[in-house]
Amino acid sequence: MTIGALEAGGTKMVCAIGNENGEILDRMSIPTLSPGETMPAMLEYFQEKEIQALGIGCFGPIDADRNSPTFGHITTTPKLEWANYNIVGKFQEALHVPVGFDTDVNGSCLGEATWGITRDVDSSIYVTVGTGVGVGIMVNGQLLHGMLHPEAGHILLQRHPEDTYPGKCPYHPNCMEGLAAGPAIEERWGKKAYDLADNDKVWELEAFYIAQGLVNYILTVSPKRIILGGGVMHQTQLFPMIREEVKRLLNGYIQTKELKDMDTYIVPCSLNDNQGIMGALKLALTELEREGQRG
Ligand code: ADP
Ligand code: ZN
Repeated sequence: MTIGALEAGGTKMVCAIGNENGEILDRMSIPTLSPGETMPAMLEYFQEKEIQALGIGCFGPIDADRNSPTFGHITTTPKLEWANYNIVGKFQEALHVPVGFDTDVNGSCLGEATWGITRDVDSSIYVTVGTGVGVGIMVNGQLLHGMLHPEAGHILLQRHPEDTYPGKCPYHPNCMEGLAAGPAIEERWGKKAYDLADNDKVWELEAFYIAQGLVNYILTVSPKRIILGGGVMHQTQLFPMIREEVKRLLNGYIQTKELKDMDTYIVPCSLNDNQGIMGALKLALTELEREGQRG
């Protein structure tokens, strides 16, 4: 079976071909310019490959509600050329195949849950700390959508008493993304994040914020495992710091077998940075199955 997968990011579009076992057989990547510039190359790529379904994990916010008149649109994105763009419609019109659609982070969560580090649990969270903070959530085997979809990178955090940085998010002075994503680190400290590797203060503060976010997710969604990905998490010294801080903040309030072993509870992603594209593959497979059942 030949399946198409698209990881639609604000910086680049990764198009790939794979199969039902999660194997990626071919891929190409192009920069995300305007739809007029970027869509034709992607359409051509998938047309040539004669795919049977396409899955899209997409930057957002997006409308992933099949009952909505604007299903398949990228909605209020700050990337204005893509705002209100019907990306699913465009692919469907050109390719005539089932198209699965979800957020990029729900896609990554699904990729890991299908073929990666969370395949043994039915409830998990995928957090990316990169250009922004994004959170994908699976509960009882289903990706969480609700009213829109989780936007849990924007949860409000308590500031560190010594942190005078005003925050990077234009909407919230003290949200997680505005305080802890890569651009916030770089603006606060005036250096590229990877050039700050030796500055312990940077990562202490970073762990302070990320752990607060995770504690809120743990108490709300009760995930059986949490995956941390994204560029900032290349600073692997963060993992033990975050685990310690999560433990400190929970303060023994909940005691589960999962929380007893923090090293297997809060973990890095496991698919060599293919979790997003593999998740998109799974979105396609799920959609194919759904359409098959519908007849
Ligand atoms: P995106 O979020 O656009 O998909 P990434 O997850 O790679 O991309 O995130 C990019 C951000 O991660 C940048 O702000 C950069 O500063 C930060 N970053 C990338 N590599 C590293 C690193 N080795 N150490 C710390 N921060 C990094
Ligand atoms: Zn925000």
